[in-house]
Amino acid sequence: MSAVISTPVETSSLRHDWSRAEVEALFELPFTELVFRAAGVHRAYFDPTEVQVSTLLSVKTGGCPEDCGYCPQSSHHPDSVAATKLMDIDAVVEKAKQAKAAGASRFCMGAAWRSPKPRDMPKVAEMIREVKALGLETCATLGMLSEEQAKELKNAGLDYYNHNLDTDPEYYDQIIHTRTVQDRFDTLEHVRDAGLKTCCGGIVGMGETRRQRAGLLVTLANLPAHPDSVPINRLVAVKGTPLANAPALDPFEFVRTIAVARILMPKSMVRLSAGRETMSDELQALCFTAGANSIFHGEKLLTTGNPDTEYDRALFQRLGLRPMSVQETHLNDLPGLTIVGNDGGCGSSGGCGCSGGQTATLTIVNAPAEGGCGGGGGCGCSSGAPAGGVTLADAMAQRQPEDGCGCGCSGC
Ligand code: SF4
Repeated sequence: MSAVISTPVETSSLRHDWSRAEVEALFELPFTELVFRAAGVHRAYFDPTEVQVSTLLSVKTGGCPEDCGYCPQSSHHPDSVAATKLMDIDAVVEKAKQAKAAGASRFCMGAAWRSPKPRDMPKVAEMIREVKALGLETCATLGMLSEEQAKELKNAGLDYYNHNLDTDPEYYDQIIHTRTVQDRFDTLEHVRDAGLKTCCGGIVGMGETRRQRAGLLVTLANLPAHPDSVPINRLVAVKGTPLANAPALDPFEFVRTIAVARILMPKSMVRLSAGRETMSDELQALCFTAGANSIFHGEKLLTTGNPDTEYDRALFQRLGLRPMSVQETHLNDLPGLTIVGNDGGCGSSGGCGCSGGQTATLTIVNAPAEGGCGGGGGCGCSSGAPAGGVTLADAMAQRQPEDGCGCGCSGC
C-alpha cells in the first residue's frame, strides 16, 4: 500500500484574494521554512508520493505569428524552427498510445498558432475524440480561443486547455508584443465558461525580478478559479531568441517559486515543465518536496528537450514516487475529495505502480468540511442528505466488474 501521510499537516484554504505583499513575504521566508510549509500544504491535499504524468506532443510546429521572446517557434526570431503542417490524426493517435504505454495519464496536443483557424477545428476535434477514446485525459494548447471554439473543443471531449500567463502582467510587455495580457484573460474566461479545466502557469528565469515572480503567482491565484494545473517552466534559453542570453535563475529561487505556487494554489497540480532537462536529480527532488506533483515526460517538450522516459522512471524509483493514475485523477475531481492509494484489487501487476493485492484500498486524505458536500458518502464526515454530487460510495458502486480495480492500468 502506498504511504498515507497521517502526520498533522498545515492546511491552507482556497483563497483568491492574495496580495502581492503577502506573496512576496512568502518568497522572503528562510528556504527551509518555506519548503516545510509548502510540503505541509501538499500533504493536506495530495499523496506526496504520487506524481501526475503528462505527455506533450507538438502537432503543428513552428511558423508562429506571435513574437514570444523565449520561443524558437516564433517566425519573428532568426533561426526559428522550420514550420510543419498539422499532423495526421493517425500519427497523433499512435503517439498517444505510446505515451499511455509509457505511463502517461494525460496527453497534451500543442500547435504553434495565434489561434486555430476554422478549417483546422474539425481535424483537431477528431484528434481529441480519438485520443480520449484511448482512456487518456486530453489537453490542448492552440493559442487564443473564441467562446465558440472553446465549446467545440469541450464537445469533442477535451478535458484541459493550456493557456499560460507567461509572466507578471507588469513585465509582460518585455516578453510579448503581439497579444495582450487581456487577450490571455479573455481566452481563459472562454475556457472556464465552456466547462474545460484550465492549465495555466508561466515561465521563470526570463530576467524578471522576485517581485515579478510573485506577481505571476498572485495573478494566477487570484483568477476566478485556480487553474487545475499550474505549469512552472524554467526558461530554456534558446539560441536566436531574444532571451538567448538571459542570466540563469538560481535553482533555489526556482524551488521557492514551486513552493509558493503550492501554498497559493493547494488543490492544483503544480507541474515541472520546460527546463526540467537541465535540472539535476537533486533539484527535481527538492521541487517534489516543495509541492510539485506533475511532470511532462517524453523526449521533447514542443521543441526543447525533456528527460528520457526511462530516466524518469528510474528517478521515480529512487525517490519512491509513483505515477498518478487516470482513475485517481478523476476521483480527485470530486468536490472536496483527495484520494490516495490504489493498492491492487486486480490480482495482477499491470504497470500501474500498485502491487496487485487482493483488495482495493482508497483512502481519503482530505475530507470536505463537515456538511460541505452534502454527501454523507463514506468519507468520514457527518454531512447530511446526499446532494447532486457523487459520493465516494456512489463512485465505487457505479464501477462495473470489467473496470478492474480502478487503478487505471491496462493490465487488470
Ligand atoms: S509560445 Fe506559442 S504563441 Fe508564443 S511564439 Fe511560441 S508557439 Fe507561438
